[in-house]
Amino acid sequence: MKKYSDLSPSPRIIMTPGPVEVDPRVLRALSYPILGQFDPEFTALMNETMEMLRDVFRTSNRWAYPVDGTSRSGLEAVLTGLIEPGDRVLVPIFGRFGYLLAEIAERCGADVATIEQEWGTVFDPNDVIAAIDRLQPSLVAIVHGETSTGRLQPLADIGRACRERDILLVVDAVATIGGVPVETDAWQLDAVVGGTQKCLSVPSGMSPITYNDRVEARLLRRKRIEKGIRPEGYADDDPSAFIRSNYLDLTQLQEYWSPRRLNHHTEATAMLYGLREGLRLALEEGLDERFARHRLHERALVAGLLAMGLELYGDESCKMPVVTCVCIPAGVDGEAVRSRLLADFGIEIASSFGPLKGRIWRIGTMGYSCRKSNVLLTLAALEAVLPLHGASIRTGAAVRTALGAYGETTVHSA
Ligand SMILES: *Cc1c(COP(=O)(O)O)cnc(C)c1O
Repeated sequence: MKKYSDLSPSPRIIMTPGPVEVDPRVLRALSYPILGQFDPEFTALMNETMEMLRDVFRTSNRWAYPVDGTSRSGLEAVLTGLIEPGDRVLVPIFGRFGYLLAEIAERCGADVATIEQEWGTVFDPNDVIAAIDRLQPSLVAIVHGETSTGRLQPLADIGRACRERDILLVVDAVATIGGVPVETDAWQLDAVVGGTQKCLSVPSGMSPITYNDRVEARLLRRKRIEKGIRPEGYADDDPSAFIRSNYLDLTQLQEYWSPRRLNHHTEATAMLYGLREGLRLALEEGLDERFARHRLHERALVAGLLAMGLELYGDESCKMPVVTCVCIPAGVDGEAVRSRLLADFGIEIASSFGPLKGRIWRIGTMGYSCRKSNVLLTLAALEAVLPLHGASIRTGAAVRTALGAYGETTVHSA
């Protein structure tokens, strides 16, 4: 019989835009004994998780719960529930994940209209609003933190414009939730999809979502009450009446998360322990303190990179605080550098997609990975490795400069 070795993943310093390192408290939570999904002890944990999600999403929405599956399950659940075949959907695209929203909307049978912004920048909200008025969509889907380019799209003006025109606004906040402010209610976002494996520092496998009454009303309108009975507003033979997914049907999922607890799937109980602990950690730290921590380590990382003479990619005014994109110096094989960082230092940084492949590295500072020792070690490792791969950088200053950004003063010797 073939013998398989014991599982022993190497310890890593994960400085990517996800998945990132997980707090030991979350790892511990994942290993606790299983409770049945209707055990009152477990349903109490579900309710607490909903409460904590409302705080993290900064919303008073009734519905805030995780969908089981990676973040795209949350995106797909929301879009599948809201889009009826033929609906006009506008997707403003400024990076790779915008294309994902457009693709999902298309699979839902939407009449998808896209507008595109040069990668490395974001939209002037007025341009999105002008497109809304020109294209008259019933729904707008947009990314908040575009991890492929490291840019952060301001949403408040777009939210207000959509509300005034009675258009639903769906936001991919997968990479920002828990690391950068996401103001669901203040920005008038109708549905927001978050991720676990990024700034919440929980393993991949759940997607926390929240949505308001406007979204719920749209979902319930499509709910097939009983076989053969069409909801109000639909003809008997109208195929758009019901949601074309069972697993991702939010009308069923919300029944399961409501006190009625109507059976749907078997809840991923161990993952829920992990998510609950991740949320508890975020709220214990304090959201504002957590955002400030992400800013602090970003500043130190950027200061160190610039001290090496490296150049950052993209428009600085809309940089995501939790992802830093670095231009790969001319003549340097970006993948060889990444491999050596991993092999010799146990440090993982990311490459990028499409037109940016081979042109930039992306360094994440998210969640539990976002800490001083990780930032300093990443800078030290890059400084050591880059000259071996033909980059002419300034050496000797990166770590000292980063320490300066942490407020430590250098004592000059005579
Ligand atoms: C990571 C990411 C996703 C996809 O998440 P999965 O968990 O891999 O499904 C979607 N949108 C953005 C902006 C992301 O950064």
